[in-house]
Formats: sequence, structure tokens, C-alpha cells
Amino acid sequence: MIEETLIIIKTDAIERGLIGEIISRFERLGFKIKEIETRSPTKDQLFEHYNHLNPEIIENICDYLVFVIVMVVCGPNAIEKCRQITGKTEGLNATPGTIRGDYSSSTCKEAMYDNSDGCRAIKNLVHASDNSENYRKEYQIWFGKGK
Ligand code: GDP
Ligand code: MG
Repeated sequence: MIEETLIIIKTDAIERGLIGEIISRFERLGFKIKEIETRSPTKDQLFEHYNHLNPEIIENICDYLVFVIVMVVCGPNAIEKCRQITGKTEGLNATPGTIRGDYSSSTCKEAMYDNSDGCRAIKNLVHASDNSENYRKEYQIWFGKGK
């Protein structure tokens, strides 16, 4: 099934110079980058996008996600496959070969206690929609129009 999904390249990935590397992971699967834009997220956008999380965590995410790249990635079974190659939330538990598993090794617990750079959200490089309903919701948030 040809699907679309929403991918966000997060601030830490941009700062680390991993934009090309991350985009190439999607492209080499045959997926097309249908839309791509930069955004400086507002608090409202982040609270809406992450409304399944505890507000304290979302506040931490607001300090973390100051500049992002939002993309619509399109191809067969894009939602499930992009989640697979993104990997689990915590780098430590993300399988090597996934984006998070190859470029991060931290945990949520460490992020909360290691505040040396003033950021308490776990830095995990990339977001991928987890189902089609959330894709439509997220598209509206980041592109300001319905799908
Ligand atoms: P994802 O779908 O794997 O991105 O994970 P979730 O939807 O559960 O959470 C969204 C994002 O919020 C994660 O990617 C993390 O950046 C952050 N996050 C979620 N839970 C926690 C937590 O318990 N602690 C911290 N520090 N960050 C969290
Ligand atoms: Mg999620």
C-alpha cells in the first residue's frame, strides 16, 4: 500500500550534521521526499504534536526542539517501515541499524538527570508518525492544512 508519513529531523540531528545521512536512509529504501520544510516550532505546535505525553516532558521538548526539518515521506507501507528504521525511543534500546540505534545511546533517565547542556528531553534525532490517524493530525499541525 502506497502511504505517506511525517518525519521530523530533530534539532540534535541538524546540529550534528546528520541531515543528509538521515534523508538517505529513507531514499535508499525507495521512498520519495514529497514535501520538505524547515520550522521553528511554537509551543502550541509541540503541545499538540506531543499531546499523548505528560506536560512536564513536553516542556522539556520545547527547550529541545528549537529548529527542525519536517518531511512527508511516501512509498509502500511508509508508516510501518519508517517506524522500523527510526528505532525505539531510547538510543540504548534501539537496534543497531536503525537511525536511533546507530547515532544515539542515551536513555530517558539519563536525559532527566544529566542536565549539563540545559536540556532534559531525550535526544533521539528523528520522529516518525506511528499510524495514519496521527499522520493526518501531524500533517495539519506542521503544514497547516488537512490531508
Ligand atoms: P517515539 O514515538 O519513539 O518518538 O516516542 P514517544 O511518542 O513516546 O515520545 C515522543 C518523544 O518525547 C520521544 O521521542 C522523546 O524525545 C520524548 N520523550 C518521551 N518520553 C520521554 C521521557 O520519559 N523522558 C524524556 N526525557 N523524553 C521523553
Ligand atoms: Mg510517538
